[in-house]
Amino acid sequence: MIFPEHFDVIVIGGGHAGTEACLAAARMGSKTLLLSHNIETLGQMSCNPAIGGIGKSHLVKEIDALGGAMALATDKGGIQFRVLNARKGPAVRATRAQADRILYKAAIRDMLENQPNLWLFQQAADDLIVENDQVRGVITQMGLKFYARSVVLTAGTFLGGLIHIGLQNHSGGRAGDPPSIALSRRLRELPLRVDRLKTGTPPRIDARTVNFEGLEKQWGDEPRPVMSVRGNSAMQPEQMCCWITHTNAKTHDIIRGGLDRSPMYSGVIEGIGPRYCPSIEDKIHRFADKDSHQVFIEPEGLTTHELYPNGISTSLPFDVQMNLVRSIKGFENAHIVRPGYAIEYDYFNPQDLKHSLETKVIGGLFFAGQINGTTGYEEAGAQGLLAGLNASLLAQDKEPWAPRRDEAYLGVLVDDLITLGTREPYRMFTSRAEYRLLLREDNADLRLTEKGRELGLVGDEQWRSFCDKREQIELEQQRLRATWIQAGSPEAAAIEAKVQTRLLREYNLYDLLKRPELGYADVASLKGEPVENATVAEQIEIEAKYSGYIDRQQEEIDRLRQYENTPIPADFDFTKVEGLSNEVKGKLTAARPATLAHASRISGVTPAAISQLMLYLKKHG
Ligand code: FAD
Repeated sequence: MIFPEHFDVIVIGGGHAGTEACLAAARMGSKTLLLSHNIETLGQMSCNPAIGGIGKSHLVKEIDALGGAMALATDKGGIQFRVLNARKGPAVRATRAQADRILYKAAIRDMLENQPNLWLFQQAADDLIVENDQVRGVITQMGLKFYARSVVLTAGTFLGGLIHIGLQNHSGGRAGDPPSIALSRRLRELPLRVDRLKTGTPPRIDARTVNFEGLEKQWGDEPRPVMSVRGNSAMQPEQMCCWITHTNAKTHDIIRGGLDRSPMYSGVIEGIGPRYCPSIEDKIHRFADKDSHQVFIEPEGLTTHELYPNGISTSLPFDVQMNLVRSIKGFENAHIVRPGYAIEYDYFNPQDLKHSLETKVIGGLFFAGQINGTTGYEEAGAQGLLAGLNASLLAQDKEPWAPRRDEAYLGVLVDDLITLGTREPYRMFTSRAEYRLLLREDNADLRLTEKGRELGLVGDEQWRSFCDKREQIELEQQRLRATWIQAGSPEAAAIEAKVQTRLLREYNLYDLLKRPELGYADVASLKGEPVENATVAEQIEIEAKYSGYIDRQQEEIDRLRQYENTPIPADFDFTKVEGLSNEVKGKLTAARPATLAHASRISGVTPAAISQLMLYLKKHG
């Protein structure tokens, strides 16, 4: 049967990528269908119920700046909020929230159900309708055909999913959910490069069987951070405490004793796992000299006793899991509610995608999330939003859009994936962004909301409040620049007491704010009225303090932008460029960069090689 209504965009999969994708397309006015295995699992957190953290919160705030759901759902479901790296510079500061997984999911479901232009349908997608290298629609498990202009696939860990606990394995998309086998087979028929990756999760523990006495407590920050520009601490639920415990020599012995039955170490698992989120058996193997690792004990929610022991992800056999858990302080009598496991799944080489996340070989087919080789809710959500908005643009016959590396972490993420590909699960770090002084989590809205509004992603209320904030910043900056303090005045004396030097000439307040000893509160009230809005004050202070570095990064960006505008023809023969080493020629030929800027980001392609390439393109272009 053919479904009577045609859609502009179909999104397959209601995880973190899929929900952002369908919400984005629908916000932009496209008639959108979300097709997912099970409506009860929309927005489900497969692993740790935590959002944000270093590098990741930048993505969450960018999704938020573009009108997306993740940050707001975090405020509605967050049971502990902290700012990481609070004492370091603003570029690497990051907000992290522990969420109640039920409240988080409910918040996402609520947004999906109340989004105009969005239809939900519960069914597995088993096949794609492809005609003349163009996607036309999707066929579900019961043979129902849905037609659309574009399709976004966000199947997460489900494609060919294989769950491992010790040497036993079974098919599954994640524990308790079916895998996507038919669709995996169908996708393998398409000319896309596919491979396997793996990820894992720890056993969950019943809090009633844990002895918390003597364990280090960890509360959230006060004042409590907020994740979304549309959020506030009043909407955040009751806050909870986390604890810290440690593995010990006995734990490590138990793990070593079980390695012969580990699917990873016995060669049963072929896929590569996340380097920065290793299993406990991996950590013990890689850091053999360490006799203890931290374990963060994190509650899974307000209405459950389940605890997430962050740091002991494992796929060892269940008997080894029990022994290793019970060897840890506080867990001596712990009851495991769900065993830990690893999962292997199909992912596609992201080098086969365009920056819009449309596949290069099948027009109108977009990929987002874990299937592109990434790991993490935030990486998935950010890609979902980008794929959804571009699927919508395509359906509306408009040009694609993707942020540049100097505009957003989302730009860095997509550019890294497309230019360099990935052989292991890719997660975001601040160190991946060369312009991280510009790409702070505190200015995500200033970087992206105007573009989001232009694309139709940002609603009226968010836009009004953004314009108000931006205007307040501009007016206050103007006021500070125009307000002068004379040497020898009482105001100068107040400043001198703080900076411990004499002011020998007149200064405006903005220049004074650049001094490391002075904060906004110190200078803004010297003359006139300071602003009351704390985020406005924070923004003004950060921009003043880092203005020198920011200006330098901006100059570099302007210089490099000429590369961005120098295209390299699709059939360009890199072997003909004189002066390039064979290694560089090989790398360029394999990556096929579309512009000089992409070429410059391929590892091993030096600035000198780029100059040679630029000269050649100019001469023969
Ligand atoms: P998912 O959240 O997996 O969502 C996929 C959705 O697609 C599901 O709703 C599914 O039902 C639906 N679907 C799939 N196929 C079909 C189909 N054919 N038809 C209809 N619907 C379909 N991340 C970390 O950052 N660190 C970790 O340590 C970590 N460990 C993990 C451990 C495990 C065991 C698992 C399963 C995941 C782990 N993750 C971890 C990854 C994190 O869960 C994912 O990165 C994130 O959920 C990816 O989001 P996604 O939207 O791409 O896919």
